[in-house]
Amino acid sequence: MERRKFTQSLATSIAGISLAHSFGYQGLNLGQKKLGIALVGLGNYATRQLAPALMETQMCALKGIVTGTPSKIDQWKKTYDLKDHQVYNYDNFDSIANNDEIDIVYVVLPNNMHKEYTLRAFEAGKHVICEKPLAMNAQEAAEMVAAGKKANRELFVGYRLHYEPHHQETIRLCREEAFGKIKFFEGGFGFRIGNPNQWRLKKQYGGGALMDVGIYVIQAARYTIGQEPIAISAREFKTDLEKFKEVDELITWQMEFPEGVVANCTTTFSASTNHLYVAAEKGFIRVSPAYGYGRVGGHTRKYKFDFPQVNQQALHMDGIAHSLTNGIHHLNVGGEEGLRDMKIIDAIFESTKADGKRILI
Ligand code: NAD
Repeated sequence: MERRKFTQSLATSIAGISLAHSFGYQGLNLGQKKLGIALVGLGNYATRQLAPALMETQMCALKGIVTGTPSKIDQWKKTYDLKDHQVYNYDNFDSIANNDEIDIVYVVLPNNMHKEYTLRAFEAGKHVICEKPLAMNAQEAAEMVAAGKKANRELFVGYRLHYEPHHQETIRLCREEAFGKIKFFEGGFGFRIGNPNQWRLKKQYGGGALMDVGIYVIQAARYTIGQEPIAISAREFKTDLEKFKEVDELITWQMEFPEGVVANCTTTFSASTNHLYVAAEKGFIRVSPAYGYGRVGGHTRKYKFDFPQVNQQALHMDGIAHSLTNGIHHLNVGGEEGLRDMKIIDAIFESTKADGKRILI
């Protein structure tokens, strides 16, 4: 996207975000129907974050679950007062088309299943929120975006940080050039992964650090610098060849932006890192910890910015419901954003395979 359009969409997005932060969407919901959400995949994120967050939303309600594990059903029915007709499995999922209570299907499955369930949800006439990364690669992501357009339904990505106040403030400072023009960005997100048998360590599921957490750093570089990268070079490193035989353990990559601005980024599954740093002509912004849903902290050379913790997931879902209900496109969490990140991820992998070759994008 050219810079002017990007900046415009970011500015309107920030307006929407600030509104969400200040008012929690209260008052915007008067007389409006809550949108029904069905969660597909009842794993960690759906169970521990999204379902509880749904209870805190103003404009959404949990109206369905889709699971392949019957033993989970009773507990979910009890906790969220769900009826039999609101419970689906992966075989009868398509009959969700006949359930008018459900407006949005939220795909919270391993990454290799995102495309299939997004396409099936569009076929069923529903809007979709799909978790990050949007797909296994840019080609899949493009198919998902196209399917949404064809079905005349919206596609959103689980980019919750657009609703986090430290990130909103960082974006505002960058757009307003509070410290002058941005010169470079540094960022890293990684953690020490446990259980060696999980899907995040398997290639066929779209595992690896870059797809799982590196994507947050790609996002942060793009929304702080406010432009699109023009070239990428990346290197991959492994210290544990057994555990990481199928997927990346650690990748460092460099994204070149127009006018010589550069982003140096790291992601890893073997150590903890969680920060972003934007250096401008006359100052800097550091956010650390940056990307989790617990405490986030930010400071510049002269002052700290410490906002109260928000429920990012609740604000994210309310922001999407607000956008759908009012036909407003003020969000930067749409499918096109996810597609852009997948193109960058493809380029990073291409470069690691070519030992750091500079890839134009
Ligand atoms: P998880 O492993 O805890 O849950 C995955 C769910 O998918 C489980 O309920 C599992 O039973 C189900 N599933 C169905 N078919 C499966 C199959 N063939 N193999 C494995 N599992 C299968 O994973 P999670 O941590 O909940 O992650 C799910 C998605 O959410 C991923 O795309 C991840 O990137 C994303 N996520 C996003 C955030 C965020 O902050 N936005 C945080 C965590 C996870």
